[in-house]
Amino acid sequence: MLEFKSYTLFLFLAVCIGSSFSCHAQTTVESSCGNTYNIAQSTHFKTLKKDISAYEYAYHSAKTSKRATSSLERIPIQIHTVTGAITSKNHNEAAIHKSISHLNTLFLDVGLQFYLLNPPTRITTPETTLFQKGAETQLATTHYTRGAINIYLTPTLVNAAHDNICGYVANIPNKALIVMATECMFNASSLAHEMGHFLALMHTHGSDNTRSTTELVDGSNCATDGDGICDTPADPQLSHAVINNFCEYTGTLTDAKGAVFHPDTYNIMSYSRKACRSQFTTQQKARMFAYYQTVKDELLNPDSHLPVSKTDAKETPLHTLSIYPNPATKNSIQIKGYTYMNAQNALSYTMINYRGQMLQKGKALSNTINVSQLAAGSYFLILETASAKIVKKIIR
Ligand SMILES: [Zn+2]
Repeated sequence: MLEFKSYTLFLFLAVCIGSSFSCHAQTTVESSCGNTYNIAQSTHFKTLKKDISAYEYAYHSAKTSKRATSSLERIPIQIHTVTGAITSKNHNEAAIHKSISHLNTLFLDVGLQFYLLNPPTRITTPETTLFQKGAETQLATTHYTRGAINIYLTPTLVNAAHDNICGYVANIPNKALIVMATECMFNASSLAHEMGHFLALMHTHGSDNTRSTTELVDGSNCATDGDGICDTPADPQLSHAVINNFCEYTGTLTDAKGAVFHPDTYNIMSYSRKACRSQFTTQQKARMFAYYQTVKDELLNPDSHLPVSKTDAKETPLHTLSIYPNPATKNSIQIKGYTYMNAQNALSYTMINYRGQMLQKGKALSNTINVSQLAAGSYFLILETASAKIVKKIIR
């Protein structure tokens, strides 16, 4: 059901949790990631869990069958540069294009590709170039492009405690927004890290930076603890101090059962050295793909509305309808929970894609709809009687 609406993005933008990575360059201390845990985001994420799980299933089945997940989906990005962000020799628009290109390499297997919707805007700010977390709220009222992920670049970025931070996903209702320090935009992994947060990934060490993970090395609680993803090994929270120049973990910490941690020092969502971070796991990819499927309509078309009101079905028998199987594993789907009596009371149905294009329509006779001609992907099925409508999401 299309129950995620305007508040969805606000609540989910940063299911990211945690606050600081402590990755370091060879000689200098690197800035930390500025995402902070928000229990409301986490709670709301759980309400999307069912949809996300269905899309994860679709992602994995497509991989298993070696079928393309679907064609690559292109996601618009709008860059806004605060005074001083791209003025230096190496911090220029060409470098931005290079960063997006590298991001796309890392997201190819997720099925997502990013592109610049328009050239970067320039935001002239007062003499100060110190950008403190939270300042984006004001900027987003005057510099924001609907229908794109907005990335604000600033020469310096600090949190409330005035520590330098690298970036974060901003939590503003109805807005898709990432803030990044310029230097982090141009390293090898921070943009992908923040995009991972934007697409619902947590740090591999989990939601809390202040204490060690409760995820066990044996994986027995991997679905609930740590980052809630099972193919990322338990991670005690990495730092420069326990990663050597060969990206090897040198720590000796043990979990609650006494097992030594073997974290993934190459994981983009870890606090490993930024230069080491170069990969997402398959389940992380599935999670990002799935999350994007659940929010993309709202993200890409924030001003459009499907021809339905979600309250329409509340007073009718339609709200008890369910679709089975979904994802559709056969050539037809069944409408359950609606009593078909004759052609007069048959449900009308319309199948549309996320762009709102009508793919097929007709009367749902005998509660069965043939979907054999649909390509793999996700669709909306609008079911209606003379007096009510309801929308169901369908995965083929
Ligand atoms: Zn982070």
